[in-house]
Amino acid sequence: MSGIKSDVLVIGGGTAACVAAASAMEAGKKVTMVFPNGGSSEISGGAIDILGVIPGEKPEICEDYQEGIEAVLKEAPDHVYGKCKDSLESGVKTLVDLAEAGGYPMKGFDGKNVWVPNMLGTFAVNAYVPEAMADGIVEPGKEARILVVGIKGNVTFNAKAAAMSYQKYQEKLGGKATYFSTEIHLTGWGDRRKISDGELADYLDTTEGKEELLTLIKTFCMNNRYAFDTILFPPVLGYLKTQSIVAELKEVCGCKIAEVQALGNSVVGYRFTRAIYRALEVKGIQMLKGSKVAKIEAVDQKVKADCVVGLTDQLHPGEGVEIEAAAAVLATGGYIGGGIKARKTEVWIELLDQNLGTLTTDQLTRDAIAPKGQQFMQLGVEVNEDLSVKEETWKGRLFACGDVLAGHNFANERSGAGIAAASAYLAGKHAAAV
Ligand SMILES: Cc1cc2nc3c(=O)[nH]c(=O)nc-3n(C[C@H](O)[C@H](O)[C@H](O)COP(=O)(O)OP(=O)(O)OC[C@H]3O[C@@H](n4cnc5c(N)ncnc54)[C@H](O)[C@@H]3O)c2cc1C
Repeated sequence: MSGIKSDVLVIGGGTAACVAAASAMEAGKKVTMVFPNGGSSEISGGAIDILGVIPGEKPEICEDYQEGIEAVLKEAPDHVYGKCKDSLESGVKTLVDLAEAGGYPMKGFDGKNVWVPNMLGTFAVNAYVPEAMADGIVEPGKEARILVVGIKGNVTFNAKAAAMSYQKYQEKLGGKATYFSTEIHLTGWGDRRKISDGELADYLDTTEGKEELLTLIKTFCMNNRYAFDTILFPPVLGYLKTQSIVAELKEVCGCKIAEVQALGNSVVGYRFTRAIYRALEVKGIQMLKGSKVAKIEAVDQKVKADCVVGLTDQLHPGEGVEIEAAAAVLATGGYIGGGIKARKTEVWIELLDQNLGTLTTDQLTRDAIAPKGQQFMQLGVEVNEDLSVKEETWKGRLFACGDVLAGHNFANERSGAGIAAASAYLAGKHAAAV
């Protein structure tokens, strides 16, 4: 088994891991990251939610996310933000800077949450959105003509249904726009009847793909009797060339252009995580991609981790690598990222082999989307004020951040990347100080 020595080991490759790694590196430490994939960050909508909804019998939408955080803490003083809210600004700045450096610029709205049209035909509440989505936000009270464009064969987005739904739904948010729809027929990718979001994004990254899209839209705009204020596209405008495709569309259409927000398994989540990896690599962080930590333990003033690098199956055991570091950050995510696992009715912190207890049906709400949230979503690693893992065995050398932490529910609070960034910034700083 080969070996690596580092100051800080970061376990994970999602939003929390990336911010923790940047934060520890900013403190002048050698940082090594180990991860198999981007976890839930890779399939996310690629926006930054900080605190969008105050959960309760009657969930409240919050306009100002700082006020939202205070309201949540009043109801639930043990909420994770109680430990990391003071790091929110630095954590989010670190995340936004990384994304921008990797080619994924984002936009915030002076502490306010905004409403972005999504692929479902409804609107999602976010604190920061990728620049490619920023021109699609609902502007209460403003009259505007908005065209929603679908692409024939791309069945994940039905432009006609989405436009009808936006028209109705916007009333709740004070929107006064008129939505129209059309479907364009790209032919350059072949004569198959269906095309996935990923294939479309790949095609639009090519010169032929982009030119075909520009020509079709330009012709549509010239032949249309009315001008549009904004044109919305599905979130497939390239993996790599999104900024230039959006800029050229703006030029040929003479109006605002935006992608709508993605749902799970999206092109946008992939863009987001890959941009951040590019920026971390430039900073000099050692990244063991396609790898996994199989075991960690605290030994002799160190944290030791057994890792498996490379493809593993019955025939390929992968290469074993032992990493030794002064401190480690656990950023392995929740149920989706792989940090928390349900084994039958029991919930475990996978890497710590820690049993969080048995779930019974009376702890579950029948509504999948329950107003107060599902109780099991609050389970996770218990930490001290400095985000070090409470269990004594770790001797203050293991810190945790992001979805693996107990005491929050990103889904019904709309707080995912905000908590990941705030807690990771703090965990990274404390790990660097060990
Ligand atoms: C469909 C969907 C859409 C979402 N959209 C948004 C959104 O638009 N905005 C927003 O703010 N939030 C969104 N969220 C929530 C947000 O994605 C998460 O809250 C946030 O990404 C959590 O980050 P994390 O780094 O803690 O976990 P994750 O992103 O899940 O990362 C966990 C990491 O740990 C790695 N890992 C696990 N086990 C090991 C191991 N043994 N060894 C090494 N590595 C390991 C995983 O591979 C992964 O890299 C969305 C969530 C989902 C599911």
